Amino acid sequence: MSGKAAEQFTAVVIGAGHAGLAASYFLSQRSIDHVVLERGEVANSWRRERWDSLRLLTPNWQSRLPGLRYEGADPDGYMTVPEVTEFIERFAKVCGAPVRAGVNVTSVRPVDDGYQMTTDRGEIAARAVVIATGACNQPALPPLRDAVPASVQQLTPFDYRDPARLPDGGVLVVGASATGVQLAAEIARSGRPVTLSVGEHTRLPRTYRGRDVLWWMDAAGVWDQRYDELDDLTRARRLPSPQLVGTPERTTLDLNALDSIGVGLIGRLAAIRDGRALFSGGLRNVFALADLKMNRLLGTFDEWARTNGRDGEADAPERFEATRVPASTRLQLDLGGGEIRAIVWATGFRPDYEWLDVPVVDQKGHLRHEGGVVDSPGLYALGLPVLRRRKSTFIYGIEDDARDVIDHLARYVAVRM
Ligand SMILES: Cc1cc2nc3c(=O)[nH]c(=O)nc-3n(C[C@H](O)[C@H](O)[C@H](O)COP(=O)(O)OP(=O)(O)OC[C@H]3O[C@@H](n4cnc5c(N)ncnc54)[C@H](O)[C@@H]3O)c2cc1C
Repeated sequence: MSGKAAEQFTAVVIGAGHAGLAASYFLSQRSIDHVVLERGEVANSWRRERWDSLRLLTPNWQSRLPGLRYEGADPDGYMTVPEVTEFIERFAKVCGAPVRAGVNVTSVRPVDDGYQMTTDRGEIAARAVVIATGACNQPALPPLRDAVPASVQQLTPFDYRDPARLPDGGVLVVGASATGVQLAAEIARSGRPVTLSVGEHTRLPRTYRGRDVLWWMDAAGVWDQRYDELDDLTRARRLPSPQLVGTPERTTLDLNALDSIGVGLIGRLAAIRDGRALFSGGLRNVFALADLKMNRLLGTFDEWARTNGRDGEADAPERFEATRVPASTRLQLDLGGGEIRAIVWATGFRPDYEWLDVPVVDQKGHLRHEGGVVDSPGLYALGLPVLRRRKSTFIYGIEDDARDVIDHLARYVAVRM
């Protein structure tokens, strides 16, 4: 091993979210010596990067990690952020993960027999490295935000905590995936006029035929679809998150629900010129496409129930009202005119690999990997969209992925003993 004198491990896991801890669980099972390096604390992103009212959109019975499952009294409820943090902390304790908190990895580079890491607490070397630093390290922001007039406050989901911290007046929420619809609803309920800019989106009812829609995704095998069986993996990895919210009432939060509480719907934000935000037209088509895809998925569930003799476990098939198209939609907003006082960019999230000095990140900032086996021997990843299965980024999805990836890692280090 070349480089400066470094503490040596067989494997290093970077990140102590649920993905890194799951990696540690399987490394320990195989008696592979390792350490988990975490720049903050266990479950750091749940402690620092989420808004106050957030609840998981996955039901409690899906809060399942290797060797730990939800055992509370409300399996169909949805965890609050403090509950998720506590759940992940408990997982770290139960699996005895060797976490070193407060250790920021600032560089990972290949050396003769593995990788050397520079951290703010010294040098560490390992034959194998698992990147579990998360898929959502930073808000993905469109460059056109630079043209927003200074009089309009701009927030990302990382800055947003609750509506009380917004200025009084109108708010434009850009993006209608899970984050955008949840924040639009909360801000509208605070009494502020909200306009939601809607592009391609994934519409889902909270419950279908009396069951949580995610029960159907699981039971019908949709979430287990493997990355190497999908027709268009690139597209599957970019799919917008579903318009879902976890509430005690199990309410559906689609565009019709938002329209009913007074949220104005407007097309995709296309440009900002001379202080005016310009939006695409064609909402009718955008809505029709989302409705079509939802109905196709519900049809898949019905077909699965029928052919597997499971119809008796659910209510009768149902179909939902098409997304209502506003009688007229605006194509422009004057951002300098005072109508809009704040913009919330709910335009997605992206990973951060600034610290990775291995040439495995493509031009779009995505890691090059095959099912979590990164394009550099001994380097692995977990927790990325459709890494090995559709469920890969969800808490519920990590067990199968982590087992597979650590199996590969174990074989890799074994032949190099
Ligand atoms: C708004 C939001 C809502 C979500 N809702 C759900 C849901 O309802 N259900 C569900 O199952 N999933 C949900 N997810 C998806 C997923 O469960 C979370 O994103 C989860 O945090 C991912 O876990 P992870 O372990 O992959 O990454 P993270 O939890 O982000 O953990 C990565 C860790 O790596 C650390 N790290 C990063 N870089 C470095 C470095 N250079 N050196 C040292 N440490 C580093 C970070 O501090 C962090 O603790 C949601 C995600 C978001 C953003």
